[in-house]
Amino acid sequence: METNGGGGGSAADVSRILSELETLKTAKNDIECRISALEAQLRDLTTTTTKKDIEDKNDTVSNGSCPLISAVHSNINHDLSPDSVYRYSRHLLLPSFGVQGQSNLVKSSILVIGAGGLGSPALLYLAACGVGRLGIVDHDVVELNNMHRQVIHTEAYIGQPKVKSAAATCRSINSTIQIVEYQEALRTSNALEILSRYDVVVDATDNAPSRYMISDCCVVLGKPLVSGAALGLEGQLAVYNYNGGPCYRCLFPTPPPTSACQRCSDSGVLGVVPGIIGCLQALEAIKIAGAVGEPLSGRMLLFDALSARIRIVKIRGRSSQCEVCGENSAFTQQQFKNFDYEKFTQAPLSTLPVKLNLLPEDSRISSKEYKEKIDNGESHVLVDVRPAHHFKIVSLPNSINIPLASLEVGLPEISKALKEEDNSGSGASLYVVCRRGNDSQRAVQCLQKMGFDSAKDIIGGLESWGHDVDPNFPTY
Ligand SMILES: [Zn+2]
Repeated sequence: METNGGGGGSAADVSRILSELETLKTAKNDIECRISALEAQLRDLTTTTTKKDIEDKNDTVSNGSCPLISAVHSNINHDLSPDSVYRYSRHLLLPSFGVQGQSNLVKSSILVIGAGGLGSPALLYLAACGVGRLGIVDHDVVELNNMHRQVIHTEAYIGQPKVKSAAATCRSINSTIQIVEYQEALRTSNALEILSRYDVVVDATDNAPSRYMISDCCVVLGKPLVSGAALGLEGQLAVYNYNGGPCYRCLFPTPPPTSACQRCSDSGVLGVVPGIIGCLQALEAIKIAGAVGEPLSGRMLLFDALSARIRIVKIRGRSSQCEVCGENSAFTQQQFKNFDYEKFTQAPLSTLPVKLNLLPEDSRISSKEYKEKIDNGESHVLVDVRPAHHFKIVSLPNSINIPLASLEVGLPEISKALKEEDNSGSGASLYVVCRRGNDSQRAVQCLQKMGFDSAKDIIGGLESWGHDVDPNFPTY
């Protein structure tokens, strides 16, 4: 009976609780109303009256349909401050985004890995749209040849860390959000700790080991990943590890062949292409953090700038065989920490150019030594093995362009040039140059096999010529 008695009194209790709740809610409303009024008062007192302020006030006055400020505030039923309501008003006016989407965004945290071509536009929009906490990871410094695509950086920051530059721009756009700077390269040793602090991860890096490492880390931490890539005139975008969707490894269990990655004739990129993909990455991250719409999971967006085509292709779902997220996988945080992503992908994590060392010392000369040989009038032939479009950018005087890919076809041309240069009858020397001194070594290996025993490569290529011999020689 006692228990029943407790239950029997429940009707009265419920009524009492409801009544008390009602009273508290009214009091809460009154307090919030008072807070808003005081905040508005404070703002008016502390803000210097600018032309904009005057215009805003005139708007309010002239708009007779506006309810009284206190009446509006009394109905606020969300966490957005009056300033935020104004700042993000165009978001709030979107029925499908609205107060809920913005409130979600303000409470969310997003990590952008890489403040380069993809990260620049992504960070600009993520800062502007009001993500509560925005993390930036990058270990690089701003360079002049970044400026055409990495639009978050300004010339004033050349030589300074990208993280500092990007954070400063983000803060200048939106001082109300928290920006966290990680001026370091992402490694298996720090990735778990950094990524675990964020709700959504944006991969804006540009190399295979980072791509696998970030995807695996997101799987072990259960974080959604917005992955983008842009090269040349093409880009692609996908969301991984979202709501049971596939991870990067489900799609690409084995890394791509690496030969292309280690050439010194790096590919170019049209600046606006990563700009577009980076903006789309921001969009997907905003959708996930704001809990609106349908993220690009299980699908991939392919962008072709030249033909102005965007295709969305369906990609495979989560693979049960996946070594990291599959049914039988037991990929733990510890295994992640011990995994060698550089070995797995046969590619370096660092974006620094690879310096190969394929030849014995007597098959190589420095750019300074080559300069001396020119000054001494040594009869020689200089073969530049860069692709033709590189040769058009800049080249050394009297060099002949035979791209590495067509070296064998060009052998007769080399023989002919050597004969023409052979003034003394004791034979002309053969030197090979490229952009950074990797392809030239490959070319010398090939030439020596073909009987050009004396072929030598110029160490460090045209880059070292510009650095050590002629500071006015354009580098690219
Ligand atoms: Zn997977």
